[in-house]
Amino acid sequence: MEFINQMEPWFDEKEREAINNYMLAGGWVTEFKKTREFEDEFKKYTGSEFCSIVANGTVSLTIALIACGIGIGDEVIVPDYTMVATPNSAELIGARAIFVDIDRKNLCMDIQKMKNAVTSKTKAVMLVTINGRYTPDLEEFVSFCKENNIWLIEDAAQSLGSFYKGKHLGRYGDIGSFSFSAPKIITTGQGGALITDNEELFEKIKKIRDFGRDKGGSDHYLVKGWNFKFTDLQAVVGIEQMKKLAYRVERKKQIGHLYEKNLTNISGIELIPTDYTQTSPWFIDVLVENRSELISFLKKNNIGSREFYPPLHSEPAYNYSCSFPVTEEISRKGLWLPSSSFLKDEQIIYVCDKIREFYNR
Ligand SMILES: *Cc1c(COP(=O)(O)O)cnc(C)c1O
Repeated sequence: MEFINQMEPWFDEKEREAINNYMLAGGWVTEFKKTREFEDEFKKYTGSEFCSIVANGTVSLTIALIACGIGIGDEVIVPDYTMVATPNSAELIGARAIFVDIDRKNLCMDIQKMKNAVTSKTKAVMLVTINGRYTPDLEEFVSFCKENNIWLIEDAAQSLGSFYKGKHLGRYGDIGSFSFSAPKIITTGQGGALITDNEELFEKIKKIRDFGRDKGGSDHYLVKGWNFKFTDLQAVVGIEQMKKLAYRVERKKQIGHLYEKNLTNISGIELIPTDYTQTSPWFIDVLVENRSELISFLKKNNIGSREFYPPLHSEPAYNYSCSFPVTEEISRKGLWLPSSSFLKDEQIIYVCDKIREFYNR
């Protein structure tokens, strides 16, 4: 029996043909028309006014902060439970990541704890809609940040295909950021996107990603900028992946439902409530007892799984002595189960049967 990886990218002959056709047409590989086309498709899907595709989801967050004028000594509030790129994107430009705990119901930043962490140095809040789940406090995040002159940046890297009240995640904040790294729902190997409805921010973003130039090829620098550009070779892959997005979004929801149905009434495993009308789960995430034994048991049965991120504040990179009990608890119990969108129903049922077998031993 073949090993079921926790997550795999999914390409087929469409991407191969597109790359081949692109190269045959004599493209320069670097970013140009195909990147603009990918941006147009991304705007259409998310409904945003403006989109900028960049090198990866870490620099897209950094660009968002720079565009908002954030820099050395400013404080950026981030959740303790997220991918490490969220705080690191702020630290890269000399800002300070301030961690706050999450809400156990949806694993997103706890709004009350965010409010308590605001100081006179707070310039931005980075709200991570982790695993495509919204927080019902989303509109309150927006209004609180507005009232207090704080930028709201949504790290929606795990939320492509997920909505709140019918509006795509990443569109509530001043800027929304996405990633196309290998484990994401669609991938270009590496890649990131920024979306916004704010033209002024978009104009800054375009310059920041291209050395601060007023337009491509011109050597006149209006702002300080760097090279965070994409490549057209990746964009041709991205355009093909976008065509598959709608199917994958639905399939991830079906996979979520199937796991839910087959994992209920097992003591030792807790599911996180998910609103599948709005959320397309990036990974299937569960809270489990005896996690390391379960991981080895699954592995012996050809099933891959992956532990949740650790509480970032306590990692050697930060080493803060504070405590965030909700993050600490869910990081200790959290497990990601096989989640690739090409998985067959039989494979998911097999995984669930093995989990049941483990807890009934
Ligand atoms: C994947 C991810 C990122 C980083 O994206 P890269 O493209 O890998 O740099 C940032 N934030 C979250 C929440 C992510 O899941």
